Amino acid sequence: MSEEHDFATRMSHVGRAGSNARGFVNYPVYRGSTMLYENMAARAGAANERFEQKPHYGTGGNVNHWALENAIAEIEGGTRCQIVSTGLAAITVPLLAFMKTGEHMLMPDSVYGPGRNFANNFLSKMGIETTFYDPCIDAAGIAALFRPNTTVLYTESPGSHTFEVQDIPALAAVGRAKGAKVMMDNTWGIHHFQPFRHGVDVSIQALTKYVVGHSDVLLGSITVNTQADWEQLRATASVLGQYASPDDCWLALRGIRTMAVRMERQMESALEVAAWLQSRPEVKEVLHPALPGARGHEIWKRDFTGACSLFGVVFQPGFSREQIWKMAEALQLFGKGASWGGFESLALPTGGGVTRTAGSGEFGGEMLRLHVGLEAPKDLMEDLELGFKALVSNA
Ligand SMILES: *Cc1c(COP(=O)(O)O)cnc(C)c1O
Repeated sequence: MSEEHDFATRMSHVGRAGSNARGFVNYPVYRGSTMLYENMAARAGAANERFEQKPHYGTGGNVNHWALENAIAEIEGGTRCQIVSTGLAAITVPLLAFMKTGEHMLMPDSVYGPGRNFANNFLSKMGIETTFYDPCIDAAGIAALFRPNTTVLYTESPGSHTFEVQDIPALAAVGRAKGAKVMMDNTWGIHHFQPFRHGVDVSIQALTKYVVGHSDVLLGSITVNTQADWEQLRATASVLGQYASPDDCWLALRGIRTMAVRMERQMESALEVAAWLQSRPEVKEVLHPALPGARGHEIWKRDFTGACSLFGVVFQPGFSREQIWKMAEALQLFGKGASWGGFESLALPTGGGVTRTAGSGEFGGEMLRLHVGLEAPKDLMEDLELGFKALVSNA
């Protein structure tokens, strides 16, 4: 397997057991806390190799963790990856690894809500200050927000709920020139955006979404591209006691085997549904960067090779939040729920759930976030027809 191979091919081969599983294609699940050593010299040697994929104690992981780590590093084009317990931990752990008291961070206004909460209600207690910025800011704008003590430029593209596409290459160039670590939550992009080719230092993924793909496991990953960043990250994850279950890692690797097909199908289905929604009179705007004419489409086309199946719908200004709730409740195939990236479709009214403090995010109507699963698009559109009936009948 090489870099020349197609993504689908690599996802079939990455992280396999080779000759290490008695001939079986896959590793079995290894559970374990204690490791036994032949002698004390072997034990001392193992403890000195904590940055390597070598067993020394349960918390250091085992082949199930490493196979997944290597697969994620391959997906994101980085050198090393740390698996953590949740996508949220994949945000908090690198911030703790690369920041200290007295420093300052720049975070986009469209950041995943719990990330904002961590900055405002936890990092602030450590004496770390955060400035939220308009996600659509340009290079000059972000440069003006840097302070002498700014050590992290945090990005997320497209943004949570509102899908603003950030000009990552331009922002990252400024961040690097100022000596800050550039972090990116790349959950939406997965492999469609290659963070390290665009100047990102630390890439965050909620594996809970498409990698796991079946709505049954929570996991996160942090991927880096230099040995120094790896050691700093790994040491922090370790000191915080971060660990993921080998069963969950095994399930995530199983998800990867079908991810390329799932994502391709879901991308196409979502674009079909999104284009149809754009033609509806009740809809003011569809927030889907891969839709021609949509906000952020030009940057998306320049930097991404594809899209996932999560997008937003903005309704005409006349519709109330209650009406959007009634619409969501009328849907039979779309589940009402948070998270995304699984095989099933979801609808989540987002009006009221979006916090903005940097003046961005005015869309002029109530919003609904849709995740398109593996159902047939025609069935999903019929379901949405039911929703539209409920929407207007509750006017
Ligand atoms: C869901 C999500 C997370 C957090 O993932 P969990 O595994 O649910 O903690 C982080 N970032 C983004 C963009 C997400 O959508």
